Amino acid sequence: MLKGKTALVTGSTSGIGLGLAKALAAQGANIVMNGFGDVDGPMADIKALGAAVSYHGADMGKPAEIEAMVRHAESTFGAVDILVNNAGIQHVARIENFPPERWDAIIAINLSSAFHASRFALPGMHARNWGRILNVASVHGLVASAEKSAYVAAKHGLVGLTKVTALESATTGVTCNAICPGWVLTPLVQKQVDAKAAALGVSNAEATALLLGEKEPSLQFTTPEELGALAVFLCSAAGNNVRGVAWNMDGGWAAQ
Ligand code: NAD
Repeated sequence: MLKGKTALVTGSTSGIGLGLAKALAAQGANIVMNGFGDVDGPMADIKALGAAVSYHGADMGKPAEIEAMVRHAESTFGAVDILVNNAGIQHVARIENFPPERWDAIIAINLSSAFHASRFALPGMHARNWGRILNVASVHGLVASAEKSAYVAAKHGLVGLTKVTALESATTGVTCNAICPGWVLTPLVQKQVDAKAAALGVSNAEATALLLGEKEPSLQFTTPEELGALAVFLCSAAGNNVRGVAWNMDGGWAAQ
């Protein structure tokens, strides 16, 4: 379905980003990966799906590197047709204890990076009159939790940016939507499970059950594969007129 299209997925060496990259690769898209840590393993996973793959190590906190990443994708595959703004980090602390440098990093990586990547990718999408921008926000783009001030502010901002991006392209073949997961068991969330287990002196399984029970009525994690299927739908022709939506896949979290 996406043969001949190129998808740039930020933060795709792990977790949700890797899941979305795999889902788009399985539809035939060329994939440009980004992120830190092990790169060879995730790239091999994408290649195994038969997709052409490239990697750029831009730091999403640095606008000049974000521009270099978009240009790398364009020079490698000729275009950025699908931009998935996924890279993100978390820090958990009350506002009075929140390190200001963590606030700045979360706003830069979880919010401003999507603005920068979009402003560099949009002209090419408009020139070709086809494009998809998927902003991986969160249920925390729709509702709040204590001790996540920067994350909640960034994700609410990302949902707002999604709407503006969609409106500015509304008469074109370029759409922009946000994906808003509840809990997904990735390294980002495992750190929060570990912190809960340590704080309460309970096992990993008990901490996981507590984490889900506090917020997610289904008591189930959303999977990267489920999010991948949503991304594929939004990139399909059936998604042509889905514009500015913040689509939660959160086990009922935001319904409460
Ligand atoms: P993860 O830690 O598994 O993956 C994060 C990815 O971002 C990694 O590839 C990492 O290398 C990359 N990254 C981090 N900082 C970067 C930087 N400065 N520049 C470039 N890449 C960077 O986390 P995840 O859970 O897969 O999170 C992915 C996205 O999904 C994030 O935006 C997160 O907020 C969002 N999200 C996650 C959950 C969840 O429950 N896991 C829920 C809702 C939303």
